[in-house]
Amino acid sequence: MPDFRAETDAEGICTVTWDVPGRSMNVMSFEGLATLAALVEAALADAGVKGIVLTSAKPDFAGGMDLASFAGLKARGPAAIFAGVMEIHALMRRIERAGMDARTLRGGKPVVAALPGTAAGVGLELALACHRILVADNPRARIGLPEIKVGLFPGGGGTTRLARRLGVMAAAPFLLEGRMATPAEAKAAGIVDEVVPAATLLARAREWILAAKDADLVKPWDAKGWRMPGGAPYSPEGYMTFVGASAMVNGRTQGLYPAARALLSAVYEGALVPFDTALRIEARHFTTVLVDPTATAMIRTLFLSKEALEKGAARPGAEPDRSVRRLAVIGAGMMGAGIARVAAEAGITVALLDATAAAAEAGRARLAAALEAEVARGRLAAARRDATLGRIAAGADYGALADADLVIEAVFEDPQVKAKVLAQAAAAAPGAVIATNTSTLPVTGLAAAVGGAATFLGIHFFSPVEKMALVEVIRGRATGARAVATALDFVRQLRKTPIVVNDARFFYANRCIIPYINEGVRLLAEGAGPALVENVAKALGMPVGPLQLMDEIAIDLAVRIARATRAALGPGYADTAVDEVIFPMAEAGRIGRKAGAGFYDYDARGRRTGLWPGLAGRFPARPADAAEVRDRLLLVQVLEALRALDEGVLEEPRAGDVGAVLGWGFAPGTGGPFGWVDRVGAAAAGARAASLAARHGPRFAPPARLAAMAAAGSRFYPD
Ligand code: NAD
Repeated sequence: MPDFRAETDAEGICTVTWDVPGRSMNVMSFEGLATLAALVEAALADAGVKGIVLTSAKPDFAGGMDLASFAGLKARGPAAIFAGVMEIHALMRRIERAGMDARTLRGGKPVVAALPGTAAGVGLELALACHRILVADNPRARIGLPEIKVGLFPGGGGTTRLARRLGVMAAAPFLLEGRMATPAEAKAAGIVDEVVPAATLLARAREWILAAKDADLVKPWDAKGWRMPGGAPYSPEGYMTFVGASAMVNGRTQGLYPAARALLSAVYEGALVPFDTALRIEARHFTTVLVDPTATAMIRTLFLSKEALEKGAARPGAEPDRSVRRLAVIGAGMMGAGIARVAAEAGITVALLDATAAAAEAGRARLAAALEAEVARGRLAAARRDATLGRIAAGADYGALADADLVIEAVFEDPQVKAKVLAQAAAAAPGAVIATNTSTLPVTGLAAAVGGAATFLGIHFFSPVEKMALVEVIRGRATGARAVATALDFVRQLRKTPIVVNDARFFYANRCIIPYINEGVRLLAEGAGPALVENVAKALGMPVGPLQLMDEIAIDLAVRIARATRAALGPGYADTAVDEVIFPMAEAGRIGRKAGAGFYDYDARGRRTGLWPGLAGRFPARPADAAEVRDRLLLVQVLEALRALDEGVLEEPRAGDVGAVLGWGFAPGTGGPFGWVDRVGAAAAGARAASLAARHGPRFAPPARLAAMAAAGSRFYPD
């Protein structure tokens, strides 16, 4: 069955319906493009056809380009990519001109995009080539061009058309950040023309076609005397826009993302030339980006691997559906309330418990207040808030656990408190899977409280729960398949991304982030200068410098973790140099953002005002080599990830890369620590580690795996 079908009715309206067989969401392949092109040609050639409605038989219009089809193109080299992209442009341009006379601009047939739901990537690009864009008032619909998020940019004409339709400034958030808009937001921004009741979508499309005049079909950029909204590059307004945009993009991306730069070039250069030339320029820049290793790495981690993990790559296959209908959360603090919220938003009934009913009520009330603030800011519909809160019952009675499918404990990080709560939970909910949200305590140790049950595991959420996409599912020594399947099905219900890791101190993400923060603290103590440390970290692609991160997490918490780690490891403890910085900071009350004082200073509203000048007196700066600082901050994370794989905490590099980028923001342009090793090569990675180890100690010792990989010429991912 082809991806598109066409049907012409008695009034001469040809409806072209997108319906890719066997998929819940339409995606565009090159075969699909050819089918669509043939149907459009036939409709334009048929004298009985008055106009075309382009729509979808699925709840959504389209998710974008099938990235797998690019992989095939890529293998054939840049010339083939360019030719393939120009084929897309030719079809879109054919739709846009719709048979009109190029000189008089008369005689075209109206083409309307009728979007029942989400239109992303090439789905929106196709709509932008049509003469009218209608979207159903579907609350789940999102309209936008998210390509930049996987290291690409809209290369199916979306860059050229949206910049011309909205002007560069207004198009910037959609092109440069990949912002996805609700139908109402898309209408307000001018991306779509009308939002209509879902039931009347097709009727309205027909009505528009039957009323359309020649002039309605001419795109502004094809009309005489057209000027770029907001100013072309060589105008006073355009000059301001492009200089500002260039500075903003380079400041934000640190020059690490070729796609952002190429996108800006395509817009700038395209704005200087006629439309068809602009499309060729867009295609050339797109080709360059697609062959760059950054796009390859980002597509792999942020799209292919992420999706595979979300679809259950690590799920025990024989397990039946373990979707959670009733959840109990014990501990109504920051994490517990956050977990209750995302579960309730996913339609799950939640019992939220704390030590007393009053404490549980207080947790629910804090959550209600947070939701209320979002409603006030227009970010959340009042009905959705009510539905969420309606699913959460607060209390202190363990009787509420009786019919729970899953119980998650999120009480204080104290092994004794946790043991007591877990034992009570196991007694009250003998049929349920029981999970701990601990961030530092080994799961296998806590399992003793539930008699070493196979139904016990770790489900580690990150803070803030509603924003962080990653969830670490931790398999203890006794954890069985049902528990893992339940956790993964639960994470899927929340639309988050799971990685399954085996139990070990700090699991995976925290295990790697702690050495990064500690390396920043060591560098400070050695006199590298705090500004250099923070800026080099950002130039590396880390979203947050190590000292800022330490302030966010709180230095008193770091001190508590350090004490506990030292007690557990004894003479093996290797972070005394770090403690010599953070213990005095904590004693001086400079414990981070929450105290308004840490490595940074803060104003009354908790905003950073700059690095604390007192650091200069405590840690006098000496000349430092930025390249060495960079290598230390990067490799300390990469080597820890490699050790996690060697020790079996990670079972595969894929989970390690997705976990790194989503969990602690590891330089996304690299695709993750394992992607980075592949990019520089195991031999070069090993040599850099060995050189650092010689100067800074065994924490940089290269794992044997790197030498073995170098000798065998092997990689973590196929080339
Ligand atoms: P929190 O202090 O905000 O909340 C803990 C809650 O547990 C409080 O409401 C407290 O009243 C309740 N509680 C304490 N003893 C209890 C008992 N015996 N019975 C029932 N409730 C009890 O702490 P939090 O930041 O939400 O952390 C909770 C857990 O999540 C900890 O294990 C922590 O390590 C883990 N965690 C925290 C973060 C984070 O960034 N804060 C991230 C991941 C995991």
